[in-house]
Amino acid sequence: MTAAPRQIVLATHNRHKVEEFQAIVAATRPDLQVIGYDGPEPVEDGVTFAQNALIKARAAAAHTGLPALADDSGICVDALGGAPGAFSAYWAGHAKDAAANLSLLLDQLSDIRDPHRAAQFVSTIALVVPEGSEHVVEGVWPGRLAVEACGAGGFGYDPIFIPDGQDPAAERTVGEWTADEKNAASHRSRAFRALVPLLENL
Ligand code: IMP
Repeated sequence: MTAAPRQIVLATHNRHKVEEFQAIVAATRPDLQVIGYDGPEPVEDGVTFAQNALIKARAAAAHTGLPALADDSGICVDALGGAPGAFSAYWAGHAKDAAANLSLLLDQLSDIRDPHRAAQFVSTIALVVPEGSEHVVEGVWPGRLAVEACGAGGFGYDPIFIPDGQDPAAERTVGEWTADEKNAASHRSRAFRALVPLLENL
């Protein structure tokens, strides 16, 4: 008889993130089942990825009584001193319009040429165990910004992010990568790899 999978709630309403997390978790911990969270959303009033991830994970753990994961993530541009950072989702305003965010960022950097277009995707994951421990881990995916959007895959800033480490003759934005390619390399998968040892103790 196989044991029932242990459930962990993922505190996000972002369908893309749930799919990415499920794929990453399935590849490393098939005994864990990631379930979505449909409880009340806390106000994300932190100014760092870690603060916002903890706010969301604490709320989901308190509401469900299950261990809760929350990711807060975004893009950090060197030439902008790390912005948009924790403000990535609403860089062009509270409408959270992904296309408007992306074109504002491209516009702000229109006079900036390589090699000054360095940027990182950052994912910070908080794990909160009800009446137990709290942990925060981080994954960083280095790269640079393209001068124009390319590719229709992924979400958010994917069409303008060119990860480091590609063949210079065939570089692509993440918008042109497959979901599997992205899941193997992304900031979220890097953060998740840092989280795996902590899940052992659940
Ligand atoms: P969060 O949902 O509060 O973590 O905000 C994350 C925001 O950062 C998203 O709305 C996107 O704008 C951006 N972002 C985070 N991860 C990614 C990614 O994997 N691809 C593209 N954009 C991302």
